[in-house]
Amino acid sequence: MRYAVMRERAKTRTEGTKVGEELHRVSAAAGWVEFRLKWTARRTVGITVRPDMNVVVTAPRGIELEAVKALLRRRARWIRRQQDYFSRFQPTVPPRRYVSGETHRYLGRQYRLKVVEGPQEGVKLVGKFIRVETEGKTGGGRVRRLVATWFVVHARKRFERSLAGCLKRFHGRVSCPELRLRRMRKRWGSWTRRGVVYLNPELVQAPPSCIDYVVTHELCHLLHAAHGRAFYDLLRRVMPDWERRKDHLEQVAAETGLGTVDGCYVLR
Ligand SMILES: [Zn+2]
Repeated sequence: MRYAVMRERAKTRTEGTKVGEELHRVSAAAGWVEFRLKWTARRTVGITVRPDMNVVVTAPRGIELEAVKALLRRRARWIRRQQDYFSRFQPTVPPRRYVSGETHRYLGRQYRLKVVEGPQEGVKLVGKFIRVETEGKTGGGRVRRLVATWFVVHARKRFERSLAGCLKRFHGRVSCPELRLRRMRKRWGSWTRRGVVYLNPELVQAPPSCIDYVVTHELCHLLHAAHGRAFYDLLRRVMPDWERRKDHLEQVAAETGLGTVDGCYVLR
């Protein structure tokens, strides 16, 4: 019954953090609990676990953040149980096999893998193909390493190009952060207060306009830490069509099985 109620409440969900939502997390015995907090005029604290496993909390404006966090700590086990339940319905994508004919995505386009034996080991984009040449056996492990390395090298190049372009949108208000690549299970990007921006190399599967959106989102954090009004005012000013790009990115995420990854989180 509880699940039925949760499903009802989750009907109006949209992915990602919306205007007026803050991202917080608390440490509990069951591990970290991350939640989106929305201050409202209601009189009680409401906790909802969405089918995408995000936790949304609505709290009355008069209450202290610490009191909300204490409540989240007490409900952490319950939250984890709901997330475990919903995790059964998350899309699963068959593992990559790195064999000829398999589809891979790069900058929003689909390519087919073509594995051939030859003297010049390497990876090249040829038309609609990612052509992998290996010297010896075309075993899965060898091809996988070649393709994975190619993707990371190209991800870095594309992200650096995107960063240079997006910085211009801020007209000198943001200095160039250090860019690092980091695999994250549910995030496209994150940042630290010391001026490091992390991007998920998987993001290179998305079209350049979506990459620019994630980079711009992270750059906004260097001026405004929280997802508050000031953050979204700035994001809208520097990238008026950010919502359209975000929707597109979520489509890509759904198709590639990357889940409902959206924004970022803060590393302290
Ligand atoms: Zn963010």
